[in-house]
Amino acid sequence: MNHENRNIHINDVTYIIETKDLCKVYQNHSVVNNLNLHIPKGQIYALLGRNGAGKTTTMKMLLNLVQPSSGKIFLFGKNSSDFNKKNYHRIGSMIEAPAFYENLTAKENLEILARLRGRHRKDTIEYALSIVNLEKEHKKLFREYSLGMKQRLGLAAAIMHEPELLILDEPMNGLDPIGIYETRNYLLQLCKEKGTTILISSHILNEIEQIADVIGVIEKGKLLEETNLQKLYQHRRRYAEFEVSDVKKAALILEHFFYISDYTIIGNSLLRLYEKIDSRADINRHFVKEGLAVANISVHTGKLEDYFTELVGGDEIG
Ligand code: ATP
Repeated sequence: MNHENRNIHINDVTYIIETKDLCKVYQNHSVVNNLNLHIPKGQIYALLGRNGAGKTTTMKMLLNLVQPSSGKIFLFGKNSSDFNKKNYHRIGSMIEAPAFYENLTAKENLEILARLRGRHRKDTIEYALSIVNLEKEHKKLFREYSLGMKQRLGLAAAIMHEPELLILDEPMNGLDPIGIYETRNYLLQLCKEKGTTILISSHILNEIEQIADVIGVIEKGKLLEETNLQKLYQHRRRYAEFEVSDVKKAALILEHFFYISDYTIIGNSLLRLYEKIDSRADINRHFVKEGLAVANISVHTGKLEDYFTELVGGDEIG
């Protein structure tokens, strides 16, 4: 047998998950296309993409729930085909709507899971239920749970055996704002204090911005960008916006007198300047001297949404 193990260190980063040209084809339709993911140890990695981008399929392949059409997956440095099934206890996951026994309580459901996994400390069920604020729901049956409560129980099931790696598909789905806030804080704490590696998926940029160290942007099964948040913020460019009576004339002045080419024209009266922003007073003087009326000048920082919209093309993301 060809055992392919990788101790994946690139620039001193250890990757808990790495994929090489991972593909999934359903009925001649490519839904995951040559995906090369690098999920660093002890960090929160967010897979960001619109509905249908291929996030769930990717996570299912990582968890051996769906067979890849081609490509490789390395988990904890081991080719997944050599990854002993027993090692899956190192991973906690929540994929799509969590399935539980409808006629049992949360505690009873978790007890069954604990027995199946056979690796829990005695107090872990109480602990997991308290983390997701379900510890007081002694009597309620799963079928009486709201969507948010089901989601919380799914998270409790994923974390209760204290895995080294958590794979969570849209974990904030169905949660109320307080639930989102609490879950986010809990995941951040888990990562910081226990060094848990967390892979989450989302289609909401704002949510991702508040939690992720690294972001992989996926669209139509392809990875468009894999970067950390600091680098991503560089895309939030500052610009000065001039509201002028004649944008074409203003653009000519920028090019010929100030040698500025990095600008955009919006509509009939707005001009956005991305370079030499600090020269805006000079530029204003020149505009006025050349007979332009300047109604307003303001400085802004671009939104990350704009960058993503540009990246994935077309409709807005998040
Ligand atoms: P969402 O945010 O809506 O869950 P996603 O990014 O998780 O989207 P996937 O669920 O991975 O996307 O789906 C990606 C594509 O693969 C979609 O076009 C979907 O219809 C298709 N797909 C997923 N599972 C199957 C399947 N079992 N058979 C055929 N096509 C599938």
